[in-house]
Amino acid sequence: MQLTTIQQVRCPECDARSSVSIPDRDLESKPSRSAAAFGEQTKVTCSNGHTYWVQFS
Ligand SMILES: [Zn+2]
Repeated sequence: MQLTTIQQVRCPECDARSSVSIPDRDLESKPSRSAAAFGEQTKVTCSNGHTYWVQFS
């Protein structure tokens, strides 16, 4: 059984915190302005309306 973990990430534009669910708690989340070519990632919109990607590695 796989548990989803919530991590806090910060917007690269304004530093606002958002919560993202990551597929594995051992992964490290890294916010980025652009999408990665491969790998696990999720799209986040911060409370100020900035959209960015969070990559997991
Ligand atoms: Zn922002």
